[in-house]
Amino acid sequence: MIRQYQLVERVQRYNPEADEGLLNKAYVYAMKAHGSQKRASGDPFFSHPLEVAGILTELRLDDATIIAALLHDTVEDTDTSLEDIRQRFGEDVSKIVEGVTKIERLDLVSKRVEQAENLRRLIIAVSEDFRVLLVKLADRLHNMRTLEFMPEAKRARIAEETLDIYAPLAGRMGMHDMREELEDLSFRWLHPDAYRAVTERLEAQKNRLADLITQIEGELYGLLQEHGIKTEVSGRAKRAYSVWRKMERKSISFEQLSDILGFRIIVPDVAMCYSALGLVHTRWRTVPGRFKDYISTPKQNDYQSLHTTVIGPGHQRVELQIRTPEMHEVAEFGVAAHVLYKDTSNGANGSCKGVRQSLKDSRAYQWLHQLVDLIETGESAEDFLEHTKLELFQDQVFCFTPKGRLIALPRGATPIDFAYAVHTDVGNSCVGCKINGKMAPLMTELSNGDEVEIIRSDAQIPPAAWESIVITGKARAAIRRASRTAIRAQYVDIGRQITKRTFERRGKTYSDQDVQASASRLGHTHLEDLLAAVGRGELSARLVADAVFPPDTGKEIQIPIGQTAGDDGWFGLRRAMGLKFRFPMTSGEKEPSDALPIRGVEPNMPVRFSPGSGAVPGDRIVGIMNGSGAITIYPIHSPELRAFEDKPELWLDVRWDTESERKNRFPAEIKVTAMNEPGTLAQIAQVIGENGANIDNVRMIARNTDFHEMLVDVEVWDLKHLNRIIRLLRERDVVSAASRVSN
Ligand code: MN
Repeated sequence: MIRQYQLVERVQRYNPEADEGLLNKAYVYAMKAHGSQKRASGDPFFSHPLEVAGILTELRLDDATIIAALLHDTVEDTDTSLEDIRQRFGEDVSKIVEGVTKIERLDLVSKRVEQAENLRRLIIAVSEDFRVLLVKLADRLHNMRTLEFMPEAKRARIAEETLDIYAPLAGRMGMHDMREELEDLSFRWLHPDAYRAVTERLEAQKNRLADLITQIEGELYGLLQEHGIKTEVSGRAKRAYSVWRKMERKSISFEQLSDILGFRIIVPDVAMCYSALGLVHTRWRTVPGRFKDYISTPKQNDYQSLHTTVIGPGHQRVELQIRTPEMHEVAEFGVAAHVLYKDTSNGANGSCKGVRQSLKDSRAYQWLHQLVDLIETGESAEDFLEHTKLELFQDQVFCFTPKGRLIALPRGATPIDFAYAVHTDVGNSCVGCKINGKMAPLMTELSNGDEVEIIRSDAQIPPAAWESIVITGKARAAIRRASRTAIRAQYVDIGRQITKRTFERRGKTYSDQDVQASASRLGHTHLEDLLAAVGRGELSARLVADAVFPPDTGKEIQIPIGQTAGDDGWFGLRRAMGLKFRFPMTSGEKEPSDALPIRGVEPNMPVRFSPGSGAVPGDRIVGIMNGSGAITIYPIHSPELRAFEDKPELWLDVRWDTESERKNRFPAEIKVTAMNEPGTLAQIAQVIGENGANIDNVRMIARNTDFHEMLVDVEVWDLKHLNRIIRLLRERDVVSAASRVSN
């Protein structure tokens, strides 16, 4: 256990002006508060907050953080109050303790949903003050170091959570050493056999590796020295977890694993980083594809370095990281570098001042705040967890807007992700893109340094299919929301029309207020939910009418499950005319036997399709009788139906006769947004032709130097056929959007 004076000494080593009195006071206060409490290991409980504080001194943190670390479990585990802490140790300390306390129970969760919800709470708590996260990470690190004392059943779960969330979070915050240690400790408990195997092999080679490291360090040092570059070189073998991951990823054995050594070269300035790189590349052969310039494009966590791998001395593959001392500080401390004790007397830290950004400018800070935005858009807890986990693990690519704004995205991101990262409106109106000045498909995977220009159209609603193309949580959430809103609005509209007609047939006047007043009796709180349910056919309009204007017959109202609003007796006329209709059977629904088949109709009933509306089999449709007894078929979403809203007597319920032998083609219209380049139209025609549809007509509705919007009239067999063609069109690189036009 660290003694009181040792802790103070450690702090004073990097911060001579530390408030020794307050540190001592916190030490005694926490020790008293925890009293005789014991940890699972049998140690006094106080040893835990003390170790946590000790870990934070290695990150050279300010007094408030160290004191908060000492006190971090007092509010949760003893009868200490936050108010008492505030009075004794001040606002700063009590705020940090409060943040840590809020998320304390994270360690006790098991269910996935709870874990997700807790991650949200964690992100919100730590976004207010980074020091909360630093204390929490140190707390987790100490708990992981002492995991062997936990009951076995809990170990794996805690280790898994650490590997899933805390280790990547530490990495995201730029705290590299902490990340590696958390990973190694998790690995040890999650895959004990693999852990043992890898560590034993590393141990067995320890001497050989140590010699090799010394030799390579010497050669690197000598090479740079020869050319007048002042340098520090240090090497080490990789940790068990990263060795194992490499074996897993490449499915190779330990013996085949060639690059388990990593070296760090620290040189005085940026220019020398590149000089050193040049020297190394001249002396040794490089491994292709391994050079990365994180100096010109830093990582999401502000990390900067040059990375390369060379076939070094003794034909050993070695990884090199080349950086300046300032970059090294960020690499070592990550966000903690922003809350370091700052020496105003121009001491050792003075040289870093120009480099160190303010915390709010740091990418880690921005990333965390993006997560908070995501939480505020109301994503479900589980989706949030999924996105966050994904994003935590992914490497970044850095792309630019035409004006040069840097947009950082997870590797694998598409221009659609880019558009949403710029702004939700840009994403929602995105129809195409240019990458480095050239038109490119929206599903292109972006590469580092790409300049991306998004082409927008206000008429655009993001296709739901994008949801499976994009990889960022922000884009996915926005697409889901936009298409949900659009689809829902459609159903509400249909539902309202159907309900209105049902009311009118009963001689009642429809009003939103009346329906709203009866909504709760129908199991809905909001009018729009209820209308959408009618529109989707989940709730019968007749039932709505019964609820608003209860029938006076007193007989029980029973609506068979599965009955759709469309069955709702729109066709009194049909019976009045004594016509014999037949309903085809669909999806097991019992239908009246006298429905109107729209194919194979009674010879004396002329039926035609509304030329403008393009109903295709699979659509929900209605028939409208005209004065001479002819029937015109419209899809239920056709705006043309509005003209007949006040003439319910003309409406006929019709269905597709899906069993009919006769095959007819049906007209439909597709709107295609495609690149303006030679051969585009030919490709579109090819997709349609090859898939057994006819093209009737093509009209350009918008022309632009980059893309065209066109309406394509096609003839298809049914809705499935139409959807397949739309899907195949979307898969074409030259097509940025394709959708059915429903009017
Ligand atoms: Mn704790």
